[in-house]
Amino acid sequence: MEGWEGLEGKVAVVTGAASGIGAASARRLSALGARVVAVDVDADGVHGVVAGLPGPGLAVPGDVSREEDVRRYAQRAVEEFGRLDLHHLNAGIVGSFAPLPELTADDFDHVLGVNLRGAFLGVREAFRRYRTQDGGGAIVLTASIASLRGSHDLLPYQASKHGVLGVLRGAAMYGGPLGVRVNAVAPGLVPTGLFSDAAAAAGGGDDMLRRGTTVPLRRTGTPDEIASVVVFLLSDDAAYVHGEVISADGGSAIVNTVRP
Ligand code: NAD
Repeated sequence: MEGWEGLEGKVAVVTGAASGIGAASARRLSALGARVVAVDVDADGVHGVVAGLPGPGLAVPGDVSREEDVRRYAQRAVEEFGRLDLHHLNAGIVGSFAPLPELTADDFDHVLGVNLRGAFLGVREAFRRYRTQDGGGAIVLTASIASLRGSHDLLPYQASKHGVLGVLRGAAMYGGPLGVRVNAVAPGLVPTGLFSDAAAAAGGGDDMLRRGTTVPLRRTGTPDEIASVVVFLLSDDAAYVHGEVISADGGSAIVNTVRP
């Protein structure tokens, strides 16, 4: 066996594919023989990632919080590759780090718009496409350690990522009888663009990296270490894994003490 089974020739959408975890997922899926449809608001970035894929790919600039953009990437995927099999719905932003009393309703709506509405629109579009095909399909959502526990000064992000688990479970209940598996990966701290944004908003990267040393594995993760969970969940090797959240966080989820 050379890699995860059942990915060869599949058409896989990856959102937030211009950088970080999404770019790593796009590369891995491509290396395993999938045809990748890479979606991101960063048009140059997503074209760059597709240009570097080892296999066929399609870059579709777009905003996952806009219904017309979501419909368009699915349409473009079908026009180019004839069908749509797999989804890694991963685009996300961290948003405002302000303390709770200073958060504005716009801060909240903006983060929920991308992370939660985006997850809903992506899942809904996936099912709309799957029902016109001959069955099957698999979806992985990028949740977060912030889906599972509290953290300081990140309320909109945390609320959005808890909501992603609601989308996951609702979609898994719907998809199970149709043979469509829906799962999530919950990353811990991974130095990416989003991580740098969070570090800057929190007052400095050093503090975020220090937090990385408090996880049981004593380090932050890499985008590739998250992508390997994603490709497993999308592959036939995960054929009986459904409605599940797999943490890839160096053990952070098991820590419930303030002691490092
Ligand atoms: P990243 O910033 O490198 O990647 C996020 C990508 O999403 C970017 O390319 C960005 O342009 C794109 N994006 C943002 N808004 C978009 C929109 N409206 N439509 C389409 N694309 C959009 O960060 P990352 O860490 O790779 O983030 C990927 C996912 O991982 C996010 O959902 C994030 O919440 C989640 N996550 C990251 C960490 C971490 O520590 N890095 C931890 C837990 C969860």
